[in-house]
Amino acid sequence: MAISIKISKTPQSRIHLFDFNNIEFGKIFSDHMFRVDCLNGVWQEPEILPYGNISIAPSLSAIHYGQSIFEGMKAFKNPEGKPQLFRPLENIKRLNKSAERMGMPIIPEELFLEGLKQLVNLDQNWIPTAEGSALYLRPFMFATDDFVGVRSSLNYSFMIFCCPVNSYYPKPIKVRVEKKFVRASDGMAGYAKAAGNYGISMLPTAEAKKDGYDQIIWTDGRTHEHVEESGTTNLFFVMEDKLILTPKLDGNILEGITRDSCIKLLRNKGYEVQERDISIIEIIDAAKANKLTDAFGTGTAAIIAKIASIGYEGVDYELPPAESRLVSNWLYQNIYQIQTGKQEDTLNWVMAI
Ligand SMILES: *Cc1c(COP(=O)(O)O)cnc(C)c1O
Repeated sequence: MAISIKISKTPQSRIHLFDFNNIEFGKIFSDHMFRVDCLNGVWQEPEILPYGNISIAPSLSAIHYGQSIFEGMKAFKNPEGKPQLFRPLENIKRLNKSAERMGMPIIPEELFLEGLKQLVNLDQNWIPTAEGSALYLRPFMFATDDFVGVRSSLNYSFMIFCCPVNSYYPKPIKVRVEKKFVRASDGMAGYAKAAGNYGISMLPTAEAKKDGYDQIIWTDGRTHEHVEESGTTNLFFVMEDKLILTPKLDGNILEGITRDSCIKLLRNKGYEVQERDISIIEIIDAAKANKLTDAFGTGTAAIIAKIASIGYEGVDYELPPAESRLVSNWLYQNIYQIQTGKQEDTLNWVMAI
């Protein structure tokens, strides 16, 4: 079924106002956005309109009761200048998993994809092409009932906007193992990209920042003995440049698409990758014995965020210098080259627009 989208173009592009060599992450928005509402379970006419403020009721259900979910993905230009997406169907499926967990409606995959493609196509001049840059895409859905009372909203909006971005974490980051606060535990919604999961991370992260760290490593809610993830990245640990460990998908961590891409690329290359429970003691012992040759977070924004040091019980364990990180450097190059069409897409991850 063809989906027709009503398009209202901006009378005046803002693109000339921005310096593409100097982009601050998440602060610049392209000319247009996509919107489709779901009223009483029925998806309405989708539209693309100029990026701008939206009007909401003070009683907007999403604000009070937290039915609000999002995605993060990127568009790139290939060497011929054609826009392309990276594994977009994975993001669409994940948004719908988040929606299901939060009691929100499922958006038809074709509706999401068509909105995404037409939006990126229209704003393709906003896709930066400098090394490490991309057009970051933010799809999200939120409850729109103007009603006070805890029940699932009857009405929702789904929207997408775009931000041109450079690479996210330019320097390797200092992380600290968090043992007081918990991000998610069994039966909660750790696997959902639900707004509330990020709200609860603000205070613990701010406390770590006060002590000079960039991020925290979450531990499991029952024992605080196993590592889970860090900020908006999944974690990988490399032992002697051979064995690679990453926490298994236990419902408490976000099922990262970059995580999945890294695992597949590493296994194809012949590395052993173990997805399992990883105790923090195992990581610290490896660091003490100089066997922890690399550690990094993976996520769409940064692709790879190298870890400079891990703080645990008051001691900072330093990792080898960034240039010597064989695994993370190799992964970053491979993923970015595939995303930008500079390397053959043998795994069929790229979708032309
Ligand atoms: C989005 C996110 C990730 C990374 O997922 P990608 O699909 O690789 O971008 C990891 N952890 C959390 C908590 C996230 O929100």
